[in-house]
Amino acid sequence: MASHKPHAKQEKPPPSSEPVLAAISDMGRGFYRELLDRLDDGVYFVDRDRRLLFWNKAAEELTGFARSEVVGRGCPDNILCHADVNGRVLCTDSCPLEQAMATGKSDQADLFLHHKNGHRVPVRVKVIPILDKQGRAVGAMQVFNDRTARIEQAERIKELERLALVDEMTRLPNRRHFNDHLSHRLAEWQRHHRPFGVLMMDVDLFKQVNDECGHLLGDAILKLVARTLHANCRSFDIVARWGGEEFGAIISNVDAEQMVLVAEKFRAMVAASDLRLPGHLVGVTISVGAAAIQADDTAQTLLKRADQALYEAKRQGRNRVCVG
Ligand code: GH3
Ligand code: MG
Ligand code: MG
Repeated sequence: MASHKPHAKQEKPPPSSEPVLAAISDMGRGFYRELLDRLDDGVYFVDRDRRLLFWNKAAEELTGFARSEVVGRGCPDNILCHADVNGRVLCTDSCPLEQAMATGKSDQADLFLHHKNGHRVPVRVKVIPILDKQGRAVGAMQVFNDRTARIEQAERIKELERLALVDEMTRLPNRRHFNDHLSHRLAEWQRHHRPFGVLMMDVDLFKQVNDECGHLLGDAILKLVARTLHANCRSFDIVARWGGEEFGAIISNVDAEQMVLVAEKFRAMVAASDLRLPGHLVGVTISVGAAAIQADDTAQTLLKRADQALYEAKRQGRNRVCVG
C-alpha cells in the first residue's frame, strides 16, 4: 500500500520561553523566595561562617522555629542539633554543612532534628554546597523533609513480614492480616461506636488479560494495582490482597458517604494507571463493593454485603463502585 504524507498542518510557532523568563527576571530574588516558600521541603542557607541567611516556611513548620528566631543566628545545626540513629549529635564534630563546604560535594542522610517543642523528628537531609565561579564554597544549603509517614509504613510492613502476614507477590498485607484487623475494628465498633467500612475490589476481566498477554504480564498488572491502592491508602487504613485478583480494604472512621469517596478514589486511581510496555500501554480497571458497618454486623454479614455489592458492580458493567 502506498504511503502518503498527511497534509502539513498550519504549525503554531514554537513556544517561546522569553515572556516567562522576562517575568522571572523582573521579579528578581522575590521569585525564588516565593518558590522556596511554596515547597513542602524545609530549606535553609548559611554563609561560609555557617550563619543563617534564609529559612523557608516549610522549615518553620517542620521545626517549630519561626524565621525571625533563627535568621542571622549561628549555625542552625546548633538549634536543630541533628542527631544520627544512635542519638549522636552531629553539629559538634561532624557538621554536615561544614563537610559539604569543605569537600564541595553534596551529601544526604537520614537524621533526627530537634523540634522547638523538644521532640525529635525523623528527617531526610540533603546538604548542598553553594560554590562561586571559581568553585569555592561560599555557603551551603540544606533541604529536609519529614520521614515519619515513610518510617511508619516501612515498619508496619517489616513487622507484618515477621509475622508472616505479607503477601509475597504484591507486598501488601495478606488475607490473614485483613481478618485480624477487621476483628479489631469490630471490637472498637462494639465498644466505642467508631464507624468503619470495608471494600472488596476485583480486577475486571482479568482472565482475558492473562489469556491475551500471558501470566507474567498478568502478575505485573496485579503488582501495579497493588502499588496504586497502597499509595492511595491513608496510614490508618489498610489494603490487603484478599487472594487471586481480589483486594480488600478496611477504611477507618468514615460514614457511608465518606467510604464511597475513598472507594471512588481507589477505582479512579487504578483506572488512571497503566502498565507501560515498549510501544503500548496496558490499562486496567477494578470493580468495588463497599459496605459500612451496621448495628448488629458480624465480620461475615459485613463482608457478605461488600461481596454482594461487588457482584452488583460487575453486573452493572464493571469499573464502578456499588454499596451494599
Ligand atoms: P470479572 O471482571 O468478572 O472479575 O472477570 P475476571 O476475568 O477477572 O474473573 P475470573 O474470576 O473469571 O478470572 C480471574 C482470573 O485471575 C483467573 C486467574 O487465572 C487470574 N489470577 C488469579 N490470581 C492470579 C495471579 O496471581 N496472577 C495472575 N497472572 N493471574 C491470576
Ligand atoms: Mg475474582
Ligand atoms: Mg476479576
